[in-house]
Amino acid sequence: MSRQAESPFAPRLAPYAASAANSRGRRHPEPPPAYRTEYQRDRDRIVHSAAFRRLEYKTQVFVNHEGDMYRTRLTHSLEVAQIGRSIARVLGLNEDLTESIALAHDLGHTPFGHAGQDALNRCMRDYGGFEHNLQSLRVVDELEERYAEFSGLNLTYETREGILKHCSPRTAAELGELGARFLQGRQPSLEAQLANLADEIAYNNHDVDDGLRAGLVHIDQLREIELFREQYEAVCQAYPRLNHRRVIHEVVRRMINRQVTDLVETSRRRLEEAAPRDIEAVRAAPAPLIGFSEEMDAMNRELKRFLRRALYRHYRVQRMSAKAERIVSALFEAFLDEPLLLPPEYQDKARAQEARSGIAGRARVVADYVAGMTDRFAIGEYERLFDPSQVT
Ligand code: MG
Repeated sequence: MSRQAESPFAPRLAPYAASAANSRGRRHPEPPPAYRTEYQRDRDRIVHSAAFRRLEYKTQVFVNHEGDMYRTRLTHSLEVAQIGRSIARVLGLNEDLTESIALAHDLGHTPFGHAGQDALNRCMRDYGGFEHNLQSLRVVDELEERYAEFSGLNLTYETREGILKHCSPRTAAELGELGARFLQGRQPSLEAQLANLADEIAYNNHDVDDGLRAGLVHIDQLREIELFREQYEAVCQAYPRLNHRRVIHEVVRRMINRQVTDLVETSRRRLEEAAPRDIEAVRAAPAPLIGFSEEMDAMNRELKRFLRRALYRHYRVQRMSAKAERIVSALFEAFLDEPLLLPPEYQDKARAQEARSGIAGRARVVADYVAGMTDRFAIGEYERLFDPSQVT
């Protein structure tokens, strides 16, 4: 990206925000967009990608067919973008970049949420492992096939940096410039730090809401949790006759507001103290500058511990997870043993990768295929491969 004046469409930014003028650019240089900022272009490419559409049918916690009211990866990503954008604007950060990171952050997620990712990681143990946020990067760097000039979406460095939240030292070394910060203890942009915490705010709160809706967690249990109790008591006192569903919405809304407010105030204070001159000073800082207060961190940890214990390990969620792991593992093994079961374009890719890097190459293509599946497509493939009554 050339060092050009910021587009007239760009909002006013703080000096430490990411901008087209201080971007490290795209892997394949392209002329600047005519009517959008560079990061709006990233966001639009993400929205038009096949992987983004498939998020609609991928599990967050509840499998898609369990009910139409629950969050999916798509609605989760939209909530992350909404929370991220609001905070970005208040702090003078780049709203477009925050949004593009938020919308892309789960693109590499397997079907069936964490159960699917754990299963695929086990399957890939001998072939380099599988990690969903690395896979999100793979999706935008290589797997999307939409443009004449390049594979992937050719996103800016800053969006790609934001997608890669964590990675092992071995992978970091292979990733070059993008992985260097994990080895050097450097920070990503403020927008990346923000998108990461917006993710946390979104899932903690919507999992409370979905968990209550599903009847897997109860108000009485949540009243033991400070973040919930604080708002629940305030709402019941102010609106003693409000119906149950509206009480929950009002409480969750206030919980989000409480966390957002804390994040804005704490981050603003830290930014004032550190006064980073520009994005490079942000990257060189010893610790992230976007964050919660210690008090809110402690309350968040309490809520997370509760959700892990009461919701994610609930026997009904566990049953679904166990089934999901069996489906993902069975599909992986079947395709790895017999690549002729793959659709022809994946057979070609598997052959090409195997010629380059042996069985690990074949396994990577199988993992790409399985990871790209939606929940219902994975169930369909499982039935087509293993259900004797379906001879198709
Ligand atoms: Mg997420």
